[in-house]
Amino acid sequence: MDINHIPRAPSGLSRRILACVLTAAVFCTGCLAAEPQAAQPAGSSEGISSVESKNAREQEPEAVSSSLDPEISAVQTVRSYPILEGTEEENTVVVIEAPQDGPCIFIVGGIHGDETAGWKAAERLKEEVRLTRGTLYILSPANRSGAEADQRYVVNSGDLNRAFPGDPKSSEAASRIAAAMYREIERIQPDLVLDLHESKYLLGTNQGYGLGNTLIYTDDSKISDLLLDFLIANEEDNVCSEEFALTTPGIAGSFNRVVTDQLEIPVITTETWRGYELPHRIGDQMDIVSFCLRYYQMIDG
Ligand SMILES: [Zn+2]
Repeated sequence: MDINHIPRAPSGLSRRILACVLTAAVFCTGCLAAEPQAAQPAGSSEGISSVESKNAREQEPEAVSSSLDPEISAVQTVRSYPILEGTEEENTVVVIEAPQDGPCIFIVGGIHGDETAGWKAAERLKEEVRLTRGTLYILSPANRSGAEADQRYVVNSGDLNRAFPGDPKSSEAASRIAAAMYREIERIQPDLVLDLHESKYLLGTNQGYGLGNTLIYTDDSKISDLLLDFLIANEEDNVCSEEFALTTPGIAGSFNRVVTDQLEIPVITTETWRGYELPHRIGDQMDIVSFCLRYYQMIDG
């Protein structure tokens, strides 16, 4: 089987048949296993503390208003708030709200600091997106110290994408960051989470650890139509410059796997292949995000 074409179904088939193809033909690679890496330092195994009630999107800490662009702020509001405030891991969540209510999507870039196209795309989105409906949360780069050092791991700690759901009291920075992220997703209850990554190797290469040019999901029950529409659009050259395939599930301890399994919130992890030039990869990341925003009718086009 040609792994680069696994989930691609002929567009002439019925949607139901395509859905079956989608479900049956996805390629299990162990996902998010990504490239073999050095062992992660052990973190605390304690669970996170109890969380706030659901549907509490208004309960962010004191919001800091900003206006990225007068033209944009005329039609959408942009604010931000800190997480892990006062710690070395402090970071900022940007919230962009359209005037009209609608779906909520949470975008995370840079869980792995050296997967540059993912977090650069998220950064660009903060500046360029023009929402017509709903709310967009952006945390990027989530692994701030790793991004600054251009390294996969959290500096002086471990792999953030093996640390979920994390522990706010852990001695490991990666675990504390994971706990804060998990808590935010649980509090906000977005309709979809996008988790932007990159891979050094194409899908199926590097002893099966390669994930380049894939979308990873753990449970497609809430997003099968979205994934199917993406595959068709990709097949017809209407989204992304490269061919993308699906893989499932996310590996244990990953953001994708834990949020999907424990919070029952669908997560799509993007993986562009680092063999291409950076602008090319950022373009594909932006295309995937834009496709999802259009699918949820949060942007025009
Ligand atoms: Zn990654």
